[in-house]
Amino acid sequence: MSTDQKLASNSDRWVKCISTQGNIRGVALFAKNLVQLQADQHKLRGDSISRLGEALMGGLFLASYCKKGERINLNIQSTGRYKQALVDAYPDGSVRGFLVERESPEDLTQDDQGPWGSGTLSALKTKDLDREKPYIGTVPILTGHLAKDLSFYWVQSEQIPTAVGLAVQVKNKQVVAAGGFLIQALPGASTDEIRGIEEHIRELDSFTKQISQIENPTQLLSHLFQNTAFMVVEEKPITFKCSCSWEKVRRALGLVGAEELASMLADPKISVVRCDFCAHEYEIDRETIRELLEAVRPQGTDKT
Ligand SMILES: [Zn+2]
Repeated sequence: MSTDQKLASNSDRWVKCISTQGNIRGVALFAKNLVQLQADQHKLRGDSISRLGEALMGGLFLASYCKKGERINLNIQSTGRYKQALVDAYPDGSVRGFLVERESPEDLTQDDQGPWGSGTLSALKTKDLDREKPYIGTVPILTGHLAKDLSFYWVQSEQIPTAVGLAVQVKNKQVVAAGGFLIQALPGASTDEIRGIEEHIRELDSFTKQISQIENPTQLLSHLFQNTAFMVVEEKPITFKCSCSWEKVRRALGLVGAEELASMLADPKISVVRCDFCAHEYEIDRETIRELLEAVRPQGTDKT
């Protein structure tokens, strides 16, 4: 089987297209394996899997039109059951993320909002190699449904008429399907064209239920565009990538201060630093702590 055929079967990927008139563009993505992998790393279940999946796909949509070398940090701060979701996504299709659940969800005030409650949604765009000022767009969470609030984000912060759909189907901790779409009207799109697409989005109303019946991202685009002719401009695999490393953990520990390091050394338990994004645990051996302590203690204050 060639790589292309493998990509065409059940792998995670996004497909980007543009209408032949050049007025409407779209991205459809499938991310079942990615969502499952991150759900397993964070030992999530049920609703939490869906929420993290939505946030990961949302971050990927934001990154999908970024330039090479740029990065998106999607930060959702919510009053709901989920306090926060953080996602790092890159235009090469790589992504990582995590979810912070509220410890006592019973304290929450009930409102008619969707699962994300209310709060804010921020997207920070940075260039890895540049000192250029990062761009940040923040909008309030209005509906608590991430897909709708992301549509609002594009309308509000970039003035692009946008429709977003996000769906994660979970059964017994297993992701059955995860996918989404982003459709945007570009300058010159006629009211008829926009109305046509809107209608097909409405037909996909129960998108979460339908996602498992759609075979691949291109088929999803065909459902949405129907009579509007389009061409595929990019097909790219989506991958999980975490940039954490032992070296970075060591560097971060060098900044915690002598007091903290000394107490780690005094603790009979082995210190562990856990990566928020991938849950990998780095064990900190005593030798390393001693070395770091040497380095941070000012000369002449070592009385041991
Ligand atoms: Zn990591």
